[in-house]
Amino acid sequence: MRYQQVADDVFTIAGTDVNMVLLREGRDLTLIDAGWHGDAGRIEAAVEALGHRPRDITAVLLTHAHLDHVGALNYLQATYGIPAYTSRLEVAHAKGEVHESATPLDVIKRLTDISTCGWALRITRAGGLRKNPVPHIQPFPTDGALDLPGHPTPIPTPGHTSGHCAFHLAAAGAVATGDTLVTAHPTSKFQGPQVLPDFFNHSTPRTLTALAALEDLAADLVLPGHGDPFTEGIGQAVARARSHATTDHT
Ligand SMILES: [Zn+2]
Repeated sequence: MRYQQVADDVFTIAGTDVNMVLLREGRDLTLIDAGWHGDAGRIEAAVEALGHRPRDITAVLLTHAHLDHVGALNYLQATYGIPAYTSRLEVAHAKGEVHESATPLDVIKRLTDISTCGWALRITRAGGLRKNPVPHIQPFPTDGALDLPGHPTPIPTPGHTSGHCAFHLAAAGAVATGDTLVTAHPTSKFQGPQVLPDFFNHSTPRTLTALAALEDLAADLVLPGHGDPFTEGIGQAVARARSHATTDHT
């Protein structure tokens, strides 16, 4: 499946064990996150399957600068001239000037069963071991809702990384939560709303605190960076993520 329509003019694109979100407004598109380095072809295929051209992407917005989200940014800029924006606090991370991510050794230490080994192999093939700084990244040009297709509003949610932000899609009643709140991950033992395992988070306590910035948004639809969409509302998603965290971290 190249893409999945999840609301009017809102689509998800599956990268390698990671999600992207595509917003449509007439002929123009906004892409949220860019998968792994090896996922560029999936983005092009999804956009073309929708009847668009990659050049219709006005900008790419980045929730945070981990390798499974910045993947195709350089390719999209070099090939089509598409700019990329993230929060002011995340810019240095995206440029490779600071590091806030799990190392390959962190990952290897957690390869405990066949499914996590399969995941590690997939992400290695998708570019998981190559550095991928994004020199052209810029901070969001304005505060509040962005003047881009779909008018996403960045919601600062520091914790998973220091400059992480989610995107509220008010017209669609949805929120793209990035890695602040996910619904599954190959290294997690359960399905459903949750924060990622500690070793992926720069700070798990701050990630949990940041959930407060999401819980009251008008969003019945939750679009996480990993796992399936959640349709019972962001308030319910946050409540479940907190209750799992209380169980797991105490
Ligand atoms: Zn991440």
